[in-house]
Amino acid sequence: MNPIYRDMPTTIFEAMSMRARAAGAINLGQGFPDGPRNDAVIDAACDALQQRSNQYPPMVGIPELRGAVPDWYRRHQQLELGPDEVVVTSGATEAIAAALLAVISPGDEVLLFQPLYDAYLPLVQRAGGVARLVTLDPSGWRIDAEALAASITPRTRALVFNDPMNPMGTCAHPDDLALLARICAEHDLIAICDEVWEALVYDGAQHRSLMQYPGMRERTVKIGSAGKIFGLTGWKVGWMCAAPPLARILAKAHQFLTFTTPPNLQWAVAQGLASQDDWIAMARDQHQASRDFFCDGLHGLGLVTVPSAATYFVSVDLAASGVAMDDVAFCDAIIDQAGVAAIPISAFYAEAAPGHLVRFCFAKERATLQAALDRLAAALPRLG
Ligand code: GLN
Repeated sequence: MNPIYRDMPTTIFEAMSMRARAAGAINLGQGFPDGPRNDAVIDAACDALQQRSNQYPPMVGIPELRGAVPDWYRRHQQLELGPDEVVVTSGATEAIAAALLAVISPGDEVLLFQPLYDAYLPLVQRAGGVARLVTLDPSGWRIDAEALAASITPRTRALVFNDPMNPMGTCAHPDDLALLARICAEHDLIAICDEVWEALVYDGAQHRSLMQYPGMRERTVKIGSAGKIFGLTGWKVGWMCAAPPLARILAKAHQFLTFTTPPNLQWAVAQGLASQDDWIAMARDQHQASRDFFCDGLHGLGLVTVPSAATYFVSVDLAASGVAMDDVAFCDAIIDQAGVAAIPISAFYAEAAPGHLVRFCFAKERATLQAALDRLAAALPRLG
């Protein structure tokens, strides 16, 4: 038995969703939206199932999607990519796995930033890598330049960077991106950039990839997700973008992980990226309004939130809210006593976790958010 997995709990997202189902709780834990629905993309997938090939597509993705991804990035992020720089994957998690397998050799060190998405650490370890953790400063989720420099050794080969960041919903500060670019160039590192939240950036802000910083074009693996762009998280269609020499290596790792991704879903995503810009902007605005609605409701309950600028998530600061419980105890209490599921932020730390932050998913219908707020209002006075 591989010890990496033997003692590992089931992911917090799966565990909380199972508990939510069993308790009949409103699930604001695992991040998935209950709307809006994109009928054009779903109809395109249905048509493609009926009318197009259901056999293995090309290993690196169908040409239509490998073309649509660069077009979309050109329009939205002023990035110039070619179809030969896109490898389609079965979701972003597969992309991260493939990128790590492609880039690191056993014994290589990889920089990870805490809070970190739960898959990163086991994937680094399973690829034979050694994780070096850099903890972001919780006062603004910025990178501490000295801590970063102290984590680099001659064995450092890559970093994994999530921007916008799950769980806190922050966008990286341009100075931090510039710092990472300098460090990558200086130490010849590959940046594996998990940018699955790039289309869900609020308040008029514009996502800018680390790939666009000086010296990063040739050393970045930029990872995206159709599941997030179209609110179809179960589809598991994602991609890695990288300069051709790197893309060729990434494709070799992908070929022995999932090999290909359902062609019908790829086709539908290609259609969607080409034609659904207005819908994508509408969905983003709708999620932003849900964030505002839910935060107002939490504030009305006397709960203090940490500013969220992106993603589906906002966190409550229990300590600042005067709640004398840690995040795990609070999540246990609200699922059992209020019938609301959330995620303790300590699940996003491998060491030295803060215990005062709880993540809620706000990408839900107003009625669902209101029901969750009502349940919390009724339960909060008697929690403990
Ligand atoms: N990305 C989702 C979240 O943060 C979870 C995905 C999963 O369950 N693996 O909630």
